[in-house]
Amino acid sequence: MAACTHRDRIKPVTPRTQGCEECLAAGTRWVALRMCLECGHVGCCDSSPGRHATAHFMATGHPVMQSAEPGQTWRWCYLDEVRWVDEAPPPGDQ
Ligand SMILES: [Zn+2]
Ligand SMILES: [Zn+2]
Ligand SMILES: [Zn+2]
Repeated sequence: MAACTHRDRIKPVTPRTQGCEECLAAGTRWVALRMCLECGHVGCCDSSPGRHATAHFMATGHPVMQSAEPGQTWRWCYLDEVRWVDEAPPPGDQ
């Protein structure tokens, strides 16, 4: 089974914004949120018009993100294209 080779880049980040950073700035809507696990950037998913989570990866090269939706703890690496669930609860979760 493939595994992400960038886990050492994951930091104990907290979300920088309560919603997609770029959508909040532009006043546009999103479908679901993803948080960058390297810097805490919050962006919208690929089902959203802006696709700002992917845009953040393209711009910064930060490869690992986690779903920022309530109850979802899965992570995704853009470079390895693997999805997994971490044992620890996501930052900001109760
Ligand atoms: Zn990876
Ligand atoms: Zn967005
Ligand atoms: Zn980032």
